[in-house]
Amino acid sequence: DVPLRITGLSKRYAKATDRYAVRDLSFQVARGQVLGLLGPNGAGKTTTLRMLMGLITPDAGEIRLFGHAVAPGAPVLSRVGAFVEGAGFLPHLTGRANLELYWRATGRPAADARLAEALDIAGLGTAVDRAVRTYSQGMRQRLAIAQAMLGLPELLILDEPTNGLDPPQIRAMREVMTRYAEDGRTVIVSSHLLAEVEQTCTHLVVMAGGRLVRAGPVADIVGHG
Ligand code: ADP
Ligand code: ADP
Repeated sequence: DVPLRITGLSKRYAKATDRYAVRDLSFQVARGQVLGLLGPNGAGKTTTLRMLMGLITPDAGEIRLFGHAVAPGAPVLSRVGAFVEGAGFLPHLTGRANLELYWRATGRPAADARLAEALDIAGLGTAVDRAVRTYSQGMRQRLAIAQAMLGLPELLILDEPTNGLDPPQIRAMREVMTRYAEDGRTVIVSSHLLAEVEQTCTHLVVMAGGRLVRAGPVADIVGHG
């Protein structure tokens, strides 16, 4: 099954306007690809990712995740994990406790090794045992990304994961994404910076003004390699 296939997707936030946040967007992502969704602020990246997570409803078009149509209100497949801005944690619990809680809520048996790996990705050091309310924005963000990866979803969706992180953290996040896609897993990552995605991604979908501008292997689009 193709991890993601989007066909003719359109979305306007207000029906009375002719301004589309996403307009007639079609692309697909094959297994093992790291796809960068690239475009300036306002290009429609977040709107696209929210639609494919079933958080907002398209006006037109179709989204298929592993062959299944995404329907409004329907739970997103357990094969998909996502990081979006503003993921909530219980502030009085530690980072470790939040991830443990999430792990159990998804109905999985205790798997300490996987939790340890995810907490390592978050790179919080000893702060994993401090309450999340004491965390900086960057720490919360890394914890949220680790949470999205916790269940080793076949398709991992990351909306601007490096926003607000410092350069060493950005490099670490790139490595995490590259390693994640080994073993045939698939990653979709949005960014407004080509420099952030050209080294990590195998493929790019470039958006502007809600529309697809270009799509293909990174080397074809960046023009070298
Ligand atoms: P992004 O980080 O994708 O650029 P923004 O920072 O522009 O998003 O928007 C932050 C929040 O405000 C999001 O929840 C978004 O849906 C909402 N938002 C963005 N633009 C508008 C708008 N024109 N009217 C109402 N809400 C908006
Ligand atoms: P990106 O993620 O590429 O920055 P967005 O999907 O956040 O782009 O936004 C695409 C367009 O839709 C922008 O013009 C933005 O202002 C608008 N928009 C985003 N969220 C909302 C919202 N909740 N209400 C109204 N307009 C929105």
